Amino acid sequence: MQNNPDTTLVTPDAPIKIQTHGGRAKCLQRLVRLDLPVPRTLALSFSAVHRIAQGHLPDIDRIVGVFDANLLLCVRPSSEDPDWGGPGAILNIGMNATRHAALCKRLGKPAADALYVRFMQAYAANVARLDPDVFDEVDPNQEGALEKFHDAYEQEADEPFPQDPGQQLAAVLKSMARAWEGTSARLLRQAKGAPADAGLGLVVQEMIPGLGQGECGSGVLQLIDPVTGAPQVTGRYLSQSQGRDALGAGRQSIYLQKDPRGPSLEDLAPAAFAALQEDAALMRVRLREEMQVEFVIENGRVHILDGVRVPRSSRAAVRIAVQLALDGIITRQEAVMRVEPRALNELLHRQVDPRATRDVIGTGIAASPGAATGRAVFTGAEAQASAARREPCVLIRRETVPEDVRGMHAAAAVLTEKGGMTSHAAVIGRGLGLPCIVGASGVRFNMSREQLVTPDGRVFRTGDIITIDGTSGQILAGEPEMLEPALDEAFQTLMSWADEARDIGIRANADTPEDAQTARNFDAQGIGLCRTEHMFFEPARLLVMREMIFAETSADRASVLERLLPMQRADFIQLFRIMEGQPVCIRLFDPPLHEFLPTTRTGQRDLAEALDIPLSDVVRRAEEMSEYNPMLGMRGVRLGVTVPEIYDMQARAIFEATIEASREGAPVEPEIMIPLVSARREVELVKSRIDAVAAAVRAEKGRDFVYQLGVMVETPRAALRAGEIAQHVSFLSFGTNDLTQMTYGLSRDDAGRFMSAYVQKGVFPEDPFHVLDIDGVGELLKLGAERGRAAHPGVTLGICGEHGGNPESISFCREAGFDYVSCSPFRVPVARLAAAQLAI
Ligand code: PEP
Ligand code: MG
Repeated sequence: MQNNPDTTLVTPDAPIKIQTHGGRAKCLQRLVRLDLPVPRTLALSFSAVHRIAQGHLPDIDRIVGVFDANLLLCVRPSSEDPDWGGPGAILNIGMNATRHAALCKRLGKPAADALYVRFMQAYAANVARLDPDVFDEVDPNQEGALEKFHDAYEQEADEPFPQDPGQQLAAVLKSMARAWEGTSARLLRQAKGAPADAGLGLVVQEMIPGLGQGECGSGVLQLIDPVTGAPQVTGRYLSQSQGRDALGAGRQSIYLQKDPRGPSLEDLAPAAFAALQEDAALMRVRLREEMQVEFVIENGRVHILDGVRVPRSSRAAVRIAVQLALDGIITRQEAVMRVEPRALNELLHRQVDPRATRDVIGTGIAASPGAATGRAVFTGAEAQASAARREPCVLIRRETVPEDVRGMHAAAAVLTEKGGMTSHAAVIGRGLGLPCIVGASGVRFNMSREQLVTPDGRVFRTGDIITIDGTSGQILAGEPEMLEPALDEAFQTLMSWADEARDIGIRANADTPEDAQTARNFDAQGIGLCRTEHMFFEPARLLVMREMIFAETSADRASVLERLLPMQRADFIQLFRIMEGQPVCIRLFDPPLHEFLPTTRTGQRDLAEALDIPLSDVVRRAEEMSEYNPMLGMRGVRLGVTVPEIYDMQARAIFEATIEASREGAPVEPEIMIPLVSARREVELVKSRIDAVAAAVRAEKGRDFVYQLGVMVETPRAALRAGEIAQHVSFLSFGTNDLTQMTYGLSRDDAGRFMSAYVQKGVFPEDPFHVLDIDGVGELLKLGAERGRAAHPGVTLGICGEHGGNPESISFCREAGFDYVSCSPFRVPVARLAAAQLAI
């Protein structure tokens, strides 16, 4: 038996591998090697089980012969990855009239009856596939239940319950093997990432009953709290029970450790409790993982049936990995590899301050953690418009569909009337790290009127401020105080280890002091993109901006810009102070000017009044400036070339802020970035003006400073001509949002209408605005990087489009030799960890 790897006894030297016998068989072998009290176990390989499913049974008598003839058996699944599922375990195989009689003497009739009934129930449902309703009438705890079960079985199956242990075992093995190969089981595990040909192993194990005289029972134990990861013996135990009964609902299971809330295993069987703790500690050290121990106690004696990796929250995953490394059980690099980067999202979000007053207007399912405040909007388009104005919004929908994804990207939080934890909104919300509440059915969603009506009759309309607490599921009116993410010591330690391994820089895209502070808190290595137009959207500045648009002469324009200058300078001083010692890359003004003009008649009238000009002037100017295709029109450097005063003002604000911020702290070395470049000459023109402003500021202030000039590569032509462009600048930053838009000829703002159809029909594997198109856009990135580097070997290369934080894009950028990626501040830790894992 030992020599046949298809059916092998689990001994220290048996040829058992996860890839051939599954994780459970391998784990049991490790426990055997540790000399833990594991019942005798036999492992059936994937190929043996596959043959069983095809009808070729192994020699059952030989299998049965391995075990003590007086003992019952159980069969458990052993797949390569426990997450792929598998058929449920079947316990007490071998139970028949003879053994029942023997067990009645040894354990007493009630215990023997209970074991038999349990086996019959499992066998009837899973092996004989009888209708479970047949047994509903019988109360298994009643006197005479066993006889009633026998009658019911015989009536339904047209034959008596099989008595031959070999026949029982063969039927169990066959049913489990076939269940694994059934279509629905296959589809289910494939959805969890299992390959089409994933195998199932089975382990046949001697049963330790868990019922009988003295202290008998079963349970699970682990040494940590699965939510926080803190050291704490947790688990449950149930006297006179088997399998995972202690975890079942409605059973009176007890605590393990002494507990004021009730009796504990430590009270009942202190020696067994101590032994279990020792065993779990040994498993932790030798299996190099926090393990949950599945055990049975038989008359006070401990048996270990299994060990599984402790299921854990993301927070606990970080703490466990760090503690294992601090205890010298795994290396720091292994700890870094053990945490899934995207899982950090759960740790990173803002929460409503528990001390804040909560004006709860409704509740739903807490589908994605974190909290966010914003203006209520009822369509994806409104969410995008709100994002364009840099106004945080909460997207409210009855339920979301793929067409809403772009709106969700633009929103700060999402609220839906329908759906559950796996609904579209919930899944996408979690993926985006977006606070999300679904299934808020107590609140009335009046979508045609764009209103949210609470049970007590309060009405919330478009533009009203609400808060979504995706951690508790509460919808709140207004804007309660928030707490920034609690980043504990374990998180910081893990991130510092990640940084030791990482070989690509991670910066943040940050437009406001708050963004910059978050970036700093997450140890971003500077700001990779500050979109300055954001700074003009505040109401007070907007009016000044509009005045500038309406300025008739260059002198008029200059005088308005003079008023904008101190505002911009103050913004930059704040950013430099927060990011002290780190690079800050400021992008010059990018969007078309008409975006600053009101589109509604009321807005136009208000503007006419504010500027004291006729309404017809406002209308005319708006018409003059309107473009058929503004994304490809007068924006970015084109504006800088044709209305150079704006860039002059921004450059001056940057330089004056540089001098100011350098007075108190480390010297600031700003990076100035020119957007939407497509030709070398554009760079030359802007560069000479910025140099002139720098010279003027140096002369006026009598102070020197250094600055870096760079270009945003976001048109295909800039990528193709990166060689000649790079000669004039010290860095190139690839803007993959526009580059994707222009490479595909696909509007960033309109693609949502057909994107889901495109992805569904397999035209695009994914939305290229979310996942970098390595084949096409990626080729332009590579080409641009190569040409830029060839012409200017010292040029710094970065990426700052939305793709920057994706682990897949980071991998691409590393391989293409980029110096850094820049992503939204909340994605910085995810990016740091992902980058470290790529380097290990
Ligand atoms: C880009 O185009 O990739 C970019 C970062 O700039 P924006 O998204 O502001 O156009
Ligand atoms: Mg862009």
